[in-house]
Amino acid sequence: MGSRESVTGAEDASTRDAAMESFEEFQQNAVKAIEGDSRKLSSVKDGMAMFVDSKPGKRGERFRYVPVASLSSVADDLVNGAVEHSEYTGFVLPSRGYAEFTVRPSRSIPLRRYIERFNWVSDDAECGHGFIPSELTRPNGREVESNRIGFHVHSPKERACVELSRATATAMFLTDPWPFAAHYPENSLRVYTLKVFVEPSPDGASVFRQTTDVAARSIFELDIRNGIHFVLEPRERLRVSFEASPGVTSPKIRFPRLKPPREVAALFSFASEASDNPPFIFLSYYQVLESFLPMAHKQDAVKALRVALKDPHFDEGKNSSVLALLNSIERLKQASEEDQLKVLVRDFVREEKLKEFFDDADARHFAKKGPIVGIPEISFHPKSEPLSVQVAKRIYALRNRIVHAKDDPKYAPIPVLLPRSVEANNLQPDVALARVLATEALIHGQG
Ligand SMILES: [Zn+2]
Repeated sequence: MGSRESVTGAEDASTRDAAMESFEEFQQNAVKAIEGDSRKLSSVKDGMAMFVDSKPGKRGERFRYVPVASLSSVADDLVNGAVEHSEYTGFVLPSRGYAEFTVRPSRSIPLRRYIERFNWVSDDAECGHGFIPSELTRPNGREVESNRIGFHVHSPKERACVELSRATATAMFLTDPWPFAAHYPENSLRVYTLKVFVEPSPDGASVFRQTTDVAARSIFELDIRNGIHFVLEPRERLRVSFEASPGVTSPKIRFPRLKPPREVAALFSFASEASDNPPFIFLSYYQVLESFLPMAHKQDAVKALRVALKDPHFDEGKNSSVLALLNSIERLKQASEEDQLKVLVRDFVREEKLKEFFDDADARHFAKKGPIVGIPEISFHPKSEPLSVQVAKRIYALRNRIVHAKDDPKYAPIPVLLPRSVEANNLQPDVALARVLATEALIHGQG
């Protein structure tokens, strides 16, 4: 899938017509295939052909670049059905059983520096794929250090291969709006991708599943066996933020009056640190709620027992009265986490705060056909359950989808909600709801 033409000295051209005129016929055909009906060649500069979306989207025109030397290979991949991966940055080409994923180090250092500091050693792959690791030589103190960069490994049993190597022109074209620098070998913006090869199949979904699975497993093993930390780049990354709105330029500060237990305050703050991982933020707020469950439950139990004791029919001399009391204590002791959460939301969260929240919230998100599957909707139908009960049920179900709580058989068949998935990227409204609940619980838990 590398470039199949020799690097030709393409002439600079400032218009499509001028560029096409300077191209040979096979290049003209490649350009037409790449253009399809959604983009147009606009110019050629320094050996890079620039394409512009012919119907600019919301964010305006998007530029994509193809080295002139790679026009045919990119056209070939597109004609054969290369499409962007729906969850991660990268693309899938089912008819060739191929997928390519952008990876990045989990720490904030440039990918190139992270990858090129290792001298990669891997099993020999006898699969027939041509793979030659890039050789990188640089002075290191007095010595000259030479690293082999990348790997290609093969499983005869799974009939699959994984490779770490420089990004292909097609990957750059489909996924990165500013890739032009990456195609010059010595440029500092060298980009590497993880490539997965499986059996070609007309079933696009199956190739999609298999390649994504192998990519995820590779990332996992690099971490667990080699201590090399990569993440697949999610296609869209939601940043959840509850920062003061841009209009607030003079925040009014007071001496802190709330006195939450330190560990609870730490959990609340931790949510703000995990800004690009919505399920994580949600769980941090959920843990704040969790820490108030025993308190809410105890207060509720004391209240219930007081009522029972004040009952004029309660007769401490009668066994049936004492047994009834014992039963209600047993019942309270056996309350599930979900029931305790219902009590917490009912007693610790002001109803008007919930109403306020849902007045401003996106109703479609919380409705039956919202983007997060398998969790109860919030309904404002007069016959629906009290808002506090609905909210508690939803929050509890969502928590179970994230931690995949097998302890509660009710939720066992529901798929886990993965961080950085499409659903995770849609989680903002539920995270906001959890934050409201956590804030209310902190206020009411002040004693
Ligand atoms: Zn191979």
